[in-house]
Amino acid sequence: MKTHKYPILANGLASFLLAIALSIIFLDMGIDRAQLAEAKVNKLKAIEYRIGSIDKRFGISKDQVEQIVQKSMEAWNQAYDCEVLALNLNASKKINFVFDQRQSQIRKRRDLIQKKEKYERELAAYNREVVDWNAKGGAPKEIYQTLMQRKNALEEQRQKLVEALTEFNNSVKEKQIQGFHYSSGDIEIFYFSSKEELVAILTHEFGHALRIKHSSNPQSIMARVGGEKEVGWKDKKITEKDIIF
Ligand SMILES: [Zn+2]
Repeated sequence: MKTHKYPILANGLASFLLAIALSIIFLDMGIDRAQLAEAKVNKLKAIEYRIGSIDKRFGISKDQVEQIVQKSMEAWNQAYDCEVLALNLNASKKINFVFDQRQSQIRKRRDLIQKKEKYERELAAYNREVVDWNAKGGAPKEIYQTLMQRKNALEEQRQKLVEALTEFNNSVKEKQIQGFHYSSGDIEIFYFSSKEELVAILTHEFGHALRIKHSSNPQSIMARVGGEKEVGWKDKKITEKDIIF
């Protein structure tokens, strides 16, 4: 039987995709520099917030939100060893729970990651088969042709994925996806998957309220969301360097 030798599909395809996936970033707004320069936070007076609107679709009550907010505030109050944040019904600054398309972006991201993992599994299976046949010195013509078809299909799949990932990345560049601290002081929460995560998101946003910038330490609660070394919310804490006076 006549045999053909064919090249192994480069693993480089997989690592290229991985690099793209790592760039799925959820940028969030850092503190405004001009504002930072201007503002001398008076730590003697706590920054006050009230609970604004809570979209019903979050499925969380005002009481529950209050408890969670207090937990996040308490984290900073303890770190500063004085009351720097407080809840006050008459405060002008609000914490709003806004349910919008950002919620669906989270789903889209999850979907894309699943597709990427599926592609990588299929590519690995293909490469294993190619290696096996190459070890035998080549494959019969029909198998060779089938493998080439799979290779082309994989390449098509990869191109579609790269396109979708690029489009997604562009769509999320504008705003942080889970929480946002506006220069007015208002905080908006868009998405959270657990109460613990909400405590962490609020703690991060309250950090901005206290004029604290993003930290380069991935373990810090003030670490920017996204990036290669990102750790989960559970592993983030207020670090000593985060405290500014
Ligand atoms: Zn931030």
